Amino acid sequence: MERSKTSEDFSLVQVAEGIHVWLAPNGSWGMSNAGLILDGRESMIVDTMFDLHLTRSMLDAMATVEPQLQHHVDVLINTHANGDHCHGNELVPTGRIIASEETSAEMDELPPSVLSAMVERFKEDPSSLGRYIQHAFGGFDFSNITMRLPTETFTNEMLLTVGDIEIRLYEVGPAHTRGDVIAYIPSRNVVFTGDILFNLETPIMWSGPVGNWIDACDRIASFDAITVPGHGPVTDRAGALEMRNFWVLLRDQTKERFDAGMGVLDAARDIDLGPYSGWGGTERVFLNVNSLYREFGSEQVVQDVMGLFAEMGAIWTLENDLPAN
Ligand SMILES: [Zn+2]
Repeated sequence: MERSKTSEDFSLVQVAEGIHVWLAPNGSWGMSNAGLILDGRESMIVDTMFDLHLTRSMLDAMATVEPQLQHHVDVLINTHANGDHCHGNELVPTGRIIASEETSAEMDELPPSVLSAMVERFKEDPSSLGRYIQHAFGGFDFSNITMRLPTETFTNEMLLTVGDIEIRLYEVGPAHTRGDVIAYIPSRNVVFTGDILFNLETPIMWSGPVGNWIDACDRIASFDAITVPGHGPVTDRAGALEMRNFWVLLRDQTKERFDAGMGVLDAARDIDLGPYSGWGGTERVFLNVNSLYREFGSEQVVQDVMGLFAEMGAIWTLENDLPAN
């Protein structure tokens, strides 16, 4: 399979003593950030990449900081079940993988082979859906991935140590997915947010409710820490508040249109994202409005994932001035 997404523009950036971020060049589909926490000879990795090539490059880069990581990592955590945060689990040399109970269950339901088959199916498809699937996933290689599931799960919160560094895991989902977790490191003033934060990218609400997402942003902002989003550049409290305000705006604008009896697609087209309209991936607003309609009790929502991608693909095609097929 051809790949256009390579590790070339990723970089390993130190954000605090013993804390590194494997930073993607942009926050678009599948271009996720990961983390490394080191103290003495103990280590933790936060999330893996969307495919094995990208994960291998990440691990090689991390091993330049601590060569021992090639053979042993004490613990890996997965912030949530989306493949761009866990498909590379099998390459991490650890016996301990931690996630929330819901994340572990959701991971088990989303085998990489489904994604692989989808990319293959739409490979030469010139429709807006086909091109959108290629745009989102075509640059990755989902072949030969064996999903390695968490060995340990928790609900609500969990305390861990890496050397003398305390890590607090908080389950804040369901929001982006069913079991989102954030990892807060008080002594280093750093928080890894998983996909609760997309910085400068339109987020995507697979699960909801939106209230959980807003509360999670408030909690992240309350740490007033160096804030590592799941996608996009490292930020701080302001990035968390911006994400919060995006959801408040989208929730309120969607509710108005829902109350007025507007259909999902019309509502998504009609909404003005104001300060957030310049973010990447604005076609995801359709999926988010659909999730909000479902939350408000609408029976007119798109239920299947391919239907969601078809609508997003149509919007993406229009926004990018591509000839529709
Ligand atoms: Zn992600």
